[in-house]
Amino acid sequence: MDMNRRDMLKMSVAGAATVAAAATLTGCATKADAAETATAAAGAAAKIMGKHKVVIIGGGIGGMTVANNLKKLDKNMDILVIEKNDTFMSCPVSNTYLGKLEGMTLGTFIFDYAQPIEKHGYNWLQGEVQAIDRKAKVVTTTNGAVGYDILVLSPGIGYNYEAQFPTWDAKKIAAVKRAAPAALIPGSEHIILERNLNNMEDGDVIITVPKGKFRCPPAPGERASMIATFMNKEEIEGKVIVMTEGTGFSKKAAFLQSWKDIYGDKIVHLPNSKITDVDVSKKVITYIEQIGTGKKDDLGDEIMKPVTKTHKYEVLNLMPLNKASDVITMAGLEVTKDTFGKVKMAGCTFATKTDADIYAVGDVVGHAIPPSGQTANWAGRMCAQEIAARLKGGTYTLPVKSKPDPAGNVCFSMVGDNPEQAVRVVHEFSWTGAVIKGKGHVPKEKNGLYRSKGTAKALRDWYRGLMGDLFA
Ligand SMILES: Cc1cc2nc3c(=O)[nH]c(=O)nc-3n(C[C@H](O)[C@H](O)[C@H](O)COP(=O)(O)OP(=O)(O)OC[C@H]3O[C@@H](n4cnc5c(N)ncnc54)[C@H](O)[C@@H]3O)c2cc1C
Repeated sequence: MDMNRRDMLKMSVAGAATVAAAATLTGCATKADAAETATAAAGAAAKIMGKHKVVIIGGGIGGMTVANNLKKLDKNMDILVIEKNDTFMSCPVSNTYLGKLEGMTLGTFIFDYAQPIEKHGYNWLQGEVQAIDRKAKVVTTTNGAVGYDILVLSPGIGYNYEAQFPTWDAKKIAAVKRAAPAALIPGSEHIILERNLNNMEDGDVIITVPKGKFRCPPAPGERASMIATFMNKEEIEGKVIVMTEGTGFSKKAAFLQSWKDIYGDKIVHLPNSKITDVDVSKKVITYIEQIGTGKKDDLGDEIMKPVTKTHKYEVLNLMPLNKASDVITMAGLEVTKDTFGKVKMAGCTFATKTDADIYAVGDVVGHAIPPSGQTANWAGRMCAQEIAARLKGGTYTLPVKSKPDPAGNVCFSMVGDNPEQAVRVVHEFSWTGAVIKGKGHVPKEKNGLYRSKGTAKALRDWYRGLMGDLFA
């Protein structure tokens, strides 16, 4: 193991620079920030700053796509985007930053909002949404309140530690979040995870995969691959353990095949295992593993026995249950009763079921389509068409096709470096029922392999294309 190199990394000023970058990216909350936020919020209620035809909450992939496309459809449309962060950071492809793939630095994933604002000419409000009054049609933020005719919600996800760990108090949740960040929401979490990896000694990395609907289901598998790549490059001894509560996970066959071929036994899938506790100071997790007894029940299924175990880790990437962003609760929209709470939609459209003047795109939508950036980008275009048609007094319905749309979603995952190789899942979308549906499959490329160098190249091209669409 190259101790000198990693020791040097620990000692370098890079850590300090990273903290500063993280604070800029997310407006990381300090006590002073919190006080400032509370004061701003109190002032905000009194400060109504005008009304816009379309207000979009969230300058992420879905929201930016709606804003850009509305302006392409009608350059005079009065649009305001509200976003809490001052810069955009991409989650897609960010795992390759952990794997230290060529050209994949922090700068590859951060973009300036000034360019699209200037190019398309919409209004921008940097502030955190704190309340939505649907009756008055007013959105209150930390930097003032605004009125709307049409509201579009693309606020992404939040974490639900409370539902997954009901015995943990707020202090414990904060400590675990800080020490073992999920890194599913853009910003400092990714940077802390990267720093934890840079600082690690020989030992295991544990990734816990959430149950239920969560952002980018193949992300944990790709992350395991990229962390194993990093550990191999740095000659770090230890395993990458992917812990799942059930037996399955997204693109499982493709990942297991790639892991075995590329990494031998370095990446281990631990099924039927539910994390119950974390001691961040001792770096130990407690989990319950369901172990087969060899006996069968009346239906012929193996009887399982829960066994409580502990495991010492070097780095923990605890991905908790996901839920729709709190912005959805603020809007008081009807949501699904699962732990995520997807926004119920008004049929095969991006208008919500509860309020015809509120639209939703991105990870929060209640359609049966994958929560991905590619889907958010597709939905954003469709939503913009719907709103533009409505404002011209018409209607827009998704184009009826004799076959499902084959390019609804393609989600790539990098699985190896030197040479770069990736796998992909492809979803066809159809919209003949009550909701838009996606049907996915993971294609084999050549010689029975799910991965290929061509798919890795396609991943880089796709990322360049998506960021170009949003920011060029
Ligand atoms: C590690 C990882 C890898 C991924 N890889 C891929 C991939 O390869 N391909 C792919 O297609 N997808 C990928 N994804 C998924 C993709 O990032 C998401 O599906 C996509 O970003 C969803 O878009 P969105 O607009 O719903 O949310 P976001 O892009 O997260 O945007 C939400 C925005 O709302 C803002 N916001 C939230 N709350 C407030 C508030 N109260 N006030 C103001 N602003 C607010 C946030 O700051 C954010 O900018 C990946 C995700 C992760 C985590």
